[in-house]
Amino acid sequence: MNADLHCHSTVSDGTLSPEALAARAKGNGVELWALTDHDEIRGQRRAREAALALGLPYLTGTEISVSFVGVTVHIVGLGFDADDAALAAGLQAARGGRRERALEMDASLAQAGIHGSFEGALKYVGNPDLISRTHFARHLVETGVCSDTADVFRRYLTEGKPGFVPHRWASLRDAVHWITEAGGLAVIAHPARYKFTANEEHALFTEFIGHGGRGVEVVTGSHSAAEAVRYGQTALEYGLLASRGSDFHSPGESHTDLGALPELPGTLSPVWEALEDRIVRPQ
Ligand code: AMP
Ligand code: MN
Ligand code: MN
Ligand code: MN
Repeated sequence: MNADLHCHSTVSDGTLSPEALAARAKGNGVELWALTDHDEIRGQRRAREAALALGLPYLTGTEISVSFVGVTVHIVGLGFDADDAALAAGLQAARGGRRERALEMDASLAQAGIHGSFEGALKYVGNPDLISRTHFARHLVETGVCSDTADVFRRYLTEGKPGFVPHRWASLRDAVHWITEAGGLAVIAHPARYKFTANEEHALFTEFIGHGGRGVEVVTGSHSAAEAVRYGQTALEYGLLASRGSDFHSPGESHTDLGALPELPGTLSPVWEALEDRIVRPQ
């Protein structure tokens, strides 16, 4: 099945509206779709309605930023009740401090001779509560400081580089609990991205499962073919359900388009089989 359960709209750091993403997913042959904005669910109603109008089955989604052993880890939530008050309150707290962080990023870049980046980033921000590094990256590319987003994250905005400001995100426990208590299923996003040692990775998976987490992304735009194989093994070892998602952000930037992913290996149990009763289907 062509399920794409990870992407971003203008409600976080994508460049397309929820409606435009729904149309692109449908056009690309996606058969089950979820919009997973960073620390946000305020695009969920629009995404669901646009999907259903196109005859596209929909799962609610979000991607929560978490601090784990000093590293930022992302936890995707799928199939929750988008009207859950505790989830909304948790995410609102999780978004807190992004503006202050962005002002510190501006000051750090200014020390490196790059001025006006906060104002520049704001031009790309669709949601004032969600200023992200991606918006700074777009500004640095647009003004010619960097050649593309990959160049930005090589030279700026990452640990040890100008523009990096450490941030304390939600706890793993809170993120998994917000999702599961709202009736959803928690998934570790793109595990290959964290560069953990074997011990750290084991701690992440063990604690995640201990809090009630049930899935891991295996086939994602952030994984190579070899990484997908590796994390397919990890899913089997830990008894986790497997997810699939492009992590699409923008036509010009994302190398993996919506729905344009390899199939999940048939040996794995897909998350969507456990979410059957949470899928919203067109009438
Ligand atoms: P933030 O939540 O503000 O820390 O921003 C994180 C976002 O920056 C991610 O969701 C990606 O969209 C983007 N990002 C981080 N690292 C990279 C990278 N190496 N290449 C491209 N985009 C990146
Ligand atoms: Mn992003
Ligand atoms: Mn992510
Ligand atoms: Mn993402």
